[in-house]
Amino acid sequence: MDPRKNYYEVLGVSESATQDEIRKAFRRMAKKHHPDVNPGDKNAEARFKDVNEANEVLGDRKKREEYDAIRKGAFTGGQFGGGGFGGWDPFGGGSFRGGRSAGGGRGSLNLDDILGQIFRQEDSGEAASPGRGEDIRVEVLVDFMDMIHGGVREVRYRRPKTCRECGGSGKSGRQGCPVCFGHGITEEEELVKVKIPAGAKDGATIRVSSKGEDPAARRKASGLIVQLRMQPHPYFRRDGNDILLDVPIRFSEAVKGAKIRVPTVDGPVMVTVPPGSSSGRKLRLKGKGASAAGKTERGDQFVILNIVAPKSASEELVKLVDKLERYEDPDPRGHWN
Ligand SMILES: [Zn+2]
Repeated sequence: MDPRKNYYEVLGVSESATQDEIRKAFRRMAKKHHPDVNPGDKNAEARFKDVNEANEVLGDRKKREEYDAIRKGAFTGGQFGGGGFGGWDPFGGGSFRGGRSAGGGRGSLNLDDILGQIFRQEDSGEAASPGRGEDIRVEVLVDFMDMIHGGVREVRYRRPKTCRECGGSGKSGRQGCPVCFGHGITEEEELVKVKIPAGAKDGATIRVSSKGEDPAARRKASGLIVQLRMQPHPYFRRDGNDILLDVPIRFSEAVKGAKIRVPTVDGPVMVTVPPGSSSGRKLRLKGKGASAAGKTERGDQFVILNIVAPKSASEELVKLVDKLERYEDPDPRGHWN
């Protein structure tokens, strides 16, 4: 979250927009700026990132409230410059939470670069025990496809370290250390590469050991917990290990059946629409879903058919449809009676 950015402007909505309006604006903007639609356009790529970031904050009621409050100066007295918003509190953990999106881009899988880490579906919820440093938590926004296929993500975060000036004592002679203001600890930016396992789910956490607080004085080092947040995809949706895709089809295709080309996360495939298909019919593409954590088998993709009617009914079209009526189910809602 960066309060210097105007996320409302990015999504093209007013500051009083409802969550529903924000969701719709996001879908519209994500489609418009998606890299697949604008191949090689760096500006579109940057805008797509901004759109996702804006949605990550405004689409979440709690984060949006926090963002609005910071922008109104409630937390900081209206100052956004310099390092860190909302004060510095190395032991409270509060300043490390709240949807900090770490920087970095997509990378290829390089096992040598990967630090020891354990993939877990859910937060351990474990509290730091006495004498042990605290885990640092960061959230990273991960591309939908990287969550499916796996990848390596660079994560930038601010790590508390023993103050070099005072060696962690917090004192400078008889006075407080001017560098760490007596805390004995300072923050430094650090970069870590994190492996995104194939099939990772939104909210999954990865713990990187010994990347948390520096072992200052009596404290032991702890870990960095990276929580993965899935960037919504303009048309694919995730349902556990399955992928859902709404596919518009023409009325004639629904009646006569058709072979249509549909995207999957592995590239396009041809799908047979059986004759007499209605909207909502699900066609299963076996093994085209996401991997189950730690397994080779994959979920499925479901193609959900959606019949599209012509937008305008010309006189000629109405006449034709009138002729069709006698072939239709006379009472499609009869099952309610
Ligand atoms: Zn110091």
